[in-house]
Amino acid sequence: MPELTLETPVQYVKRAGLRRAEQLAALGIETVEDLLLYFPRRFDLRRQTQPIASLRDGDENATVAGQVLECYERGYRSKPYFECILDDGTAEIAVKWFHGGYLRNHIRPNMLIAVSGKVGSYRDLLQFVNPAFQVIYDSGGVRLDRDELLPVYPAGGGLSSGIIASIIKANLPHAQNLIRPWFDKAYLARRGLMPRPEAVAAMHRPEDKEQWSRARRRLAYDECFLMQLGVAILRSRETHRPAHALKITREIDERIRVRFPFALTAAQDRAVGEIVADLRRSRPMNRLVQGDVGAGKTVVALYAALTAVANHKQAAIMAPTEILATQHYRKIRDYLDGSRVETRLLVGGQNAKQRNRTLAELAAGEVNVIVGTHALLGETVKFRDLALVVVDEQHKFGVRQRTHLRGKGYAPHYLVMTATPIPRTLALTVFGDLDVSTIDELPPGRGKTETRLVKQKDLPKVIDLAAKKLSAGQQAYFIYPLVTPSLELELTAARDAYRELAAGALGKFGVGLVHGQMPADKKEAVMRDFREGKIKVLVASVVVEVGVDVTAANVMVVMHAERFGLAQLHQLRGRIGRGRDDATCILVASPGNPIAQQRMDILTKTSDGFKIAEEDLRLRGPGEFFGTKQHGLPELKVADLIEDFELLRLARRDAFAMIEEDPDLAAPHHQQLRRELLKTHGQSLTLLTGG
Ligand code: ADP
Ligand code: MG
Repeated sequence: MPELTLETPVQYVKRAGLRRAEQLAALGIETVEDLLLYFPRRFDLRRQTQPIASLRDGDENATVAGQVLECYERGYRSKPYFECILDDGTAEIAVKWFHGGYLRNHIRPNMLIAVSGKVGSYRDLLQFVNPAFQVIYDSGGVRLDRDELLPVYPAGGGLSSGIIASIIKANLPHAQNLIRPWFDKAYLARRGLMPRPEAVAAMHRPEDKEQWSRARRRLAYDECFLMQLGVAILRSRETHRPAHALKITREIDERIRVRFPFALTAAQDRAVGEIVADLRRSRPMNRLVQGDVGAGKTVVALYAALTAVANHKQAAIMAPTEILATQHYRKIRDYLDGSRVETRLLVGGQNAKQRNRTLAELAAGEVNVIVGTHALLGETVKFRDLALVVVDEQHKFGVRQRTHLRGKGYAPHYLVMTATPIPRTLALTVFGDLDVSTIDELPPGRGKTETRLVKQKDLPKVIDLAAKKLSAGQQAYFIYPLVTPSLELELTAARDAYRELAAGALGKFGVGLVHGQMPADKKEAVMRDFREGKIKVLVASVVVEVGVDVTAANVMVVMHAERFGLAQLHQLRGRIGRGRDDATCILVASPGNPIAQQRMDILTKTSDGFKIAEEDLRLRGPGEFFGTKQHGLPELKVADLIEDFELLRLARRDAFAMIEEDPDLAAPHHQQLRRELLKTHGQSLTLLTGG
């Protein structure tokens, strides 16, 4: 048998063997280290032992400990049992295990054992029948002078919690010494963290709850720290590539600002200031601008783009859909009307001739600002001198994708805009390699948006209300979560709803339909009609979520609102109330789902996107929050990013400081961390290549 290391296959540890190793593999446990890091889900409390003399018939969960006086096997024919007599100095008691013949190899006279279970009686004598038992003087001996926390492990692979516990317990005493320390004593002391080997052991066999909490805190710190180490390395790599340092003079600033028919809000000014400070450096900017829909992010992005243009460089603005790209393009053209800035649109649906001309102009440097969709990522798209990339992700986070538009040689500055307020947790994790600017103020002169929650049966009243508002010159959205009918979910499809609405009281106002499966040009035509007020009612699946701007549309009805996430609903709601008029958002929730309704109640009470986003994240977890499992959050075993936020911040500060000082973790005393990092995050982050 090989000497035990953390890498030793689990088949070689005590109480395991080949078959158990296969079962353990189903739980993801292949090595000694995996075993050590397989932590209990919870603990059961085993009460302190009591004197045998104090037992009463019927005691439900008694534990006693004593010496085995004698053992015998009885009742061979009918119901065989194994019996021993236990004596703790106060009294004796019989303990029986039916079909317990196998125990003859485990329990022998003179041993000290503990048993716990229900106390019964037989012919007036007290006894235990089939109790749990434990041999006290085994290597990991239990202490019976105090209450004991019994670990309960996630079972699986044909292994019960009890078997897993016994394997871990048998190996913990020597294996825990294999755990290598990550930090020195002084480092730990300053942060009030216990040593890692001790923490691992205490996760399995804590002396009490307090010790377990400290152990958990240490291991949660380690998880956060490793993750942030990865983030810090990504960040330091990005910023170590050279970028064009852009010059911003007072004159340039003024020339840009006159393009906007309004003064920037204080929040926009702050964001612009942060961006400008980044652009001045010869390291690439890496910044996220977040702000609710309508907060004025596009204006801020355009400011950045025009800074690049003023420096005779190019800027690219990328949006997730053609509708949005086209809308950005149109807006930007309006702002730039009469200037010499050359702007082009590049989307999938264009004809080859137009496309080729745009590409040629772009490569020749004749185009200053290009707006487009993912078409901008195509092989054939060549820039003369790209200095800035703006990605408008709105709500669609493309965490992994965003690296693509970074050319060779000089790295472009990178600005990503999102309309989903990012909970602080995610700002430090999924977006941890970005600096964050927040536009937390809407431009002045906006109306208020009132949000109401109604039941399906009140829909006729909702239609009446909408008709009234439409008569007064407003426009309305009707949002449906699904396009194709799905009996399973019993959702009204947008298509059916469209027919119904068009045939009903709202028909005379003009009703249009857009949904995800429509071809882009048809979609765009309907959107144009709506924008121009030719149709007053737009029935839509979630496509409007990604940024349409129709100021006359101040009524929004969201059907089956319980099907949406809170953050998503908040975003949808941001589509209205964009002008001076007050707006009304009506959430129609299906009956029979009181919890979902309660959840949505928060929307009727607050319009603070951050509060809503945090609540959404808490309620649904990161996977659902992002609407996909591909959220880029590493799997965490111990840490809870919401509950452990302060710890996450501490770990982040520590990790960033370490990378600042030692960017490649080359120092000898960082080698253990380097190995841990490669093991845990190496593949996903492709870190430390050449290491
Ligand atoms: P976002 O991209 O954050 O959704 P936009 O930049 O599209 O927001 O701005 C939303 C609307 O507000 C636009 O019609 C824009 O012209 C207007 N707007 C932006 N900034 C200001 C401002 N400082 N003052 C007045 N109106 C503004
Ligand atoms: Mg926008």
